[in-house]
Amino acid sequence: MKIAVYPGSFDPITNGHIDLIKRALSIFDKIVVAIADNVEKERECLFTMEQREKMVKETLKDMDKVEVLRFKGLLADLVKKIGACSILRGLRAVSDFEYEFQMALMNRNLAPSCETFFLTPSEKYTYLSSSLIKDIARFNGDISEFVPEVVKRELKKKFGFA
Ligand code: ADP
Repeated sequence: MKIAVYPGSFDPITNGHIDLIKRALSIFDKIVVAIADNVEKERECLFTMEQREKMVKETLKDMDKVEVLRFKGLLADLVKKIGACSILRGLRAVSDFEYEFQMALMNRNLAPSCETFFLTPSEKYTYLSSSLIKDIARFNGDISEFVPEVVKRELKKKFGFA
């Protein structure tokens, strides 16, 4: 069984993430969405681990080849533990490349049997990021096209518009 792990902060999950997961489902037997649960990141995140996990689970609940879990520590250790053959990452623009390239090579060192697999989303999501969504939602801008309903709802609550 070909398992890909898709790690990220998902703060919050967007339609860009979902687009990538759907593309990956035509290639892998199972996608494990791994939400980073580390204290350092938590401080930078708008949503808590519980909130991020709830939104991801609600959004992906009808995709039966997708599993959602939290992970702490090294991604390479998770990869070995669940027997993943690939790490799934998204490449939107050149600006993603340098960081992703470094991570891919380091992860190859730490988990040599696992390949990093890059996918690009639909053009309409290439400029979409969780940070941009938060910036727009903070001022009650319309983000309906870019996030699932549950995320829209939670962002409105977070910024006091609901
Ligand atoms: P991280 O904090 O690890 O960057 P993110 O949740 O922001 O976590 O992103 C996880 C992965 O999803 C990254 O590889 C990122 O490039 C990718 N990604 C984020 N937004 C999009 C998008 N709109 N289209 C495609 N890939 C995306």
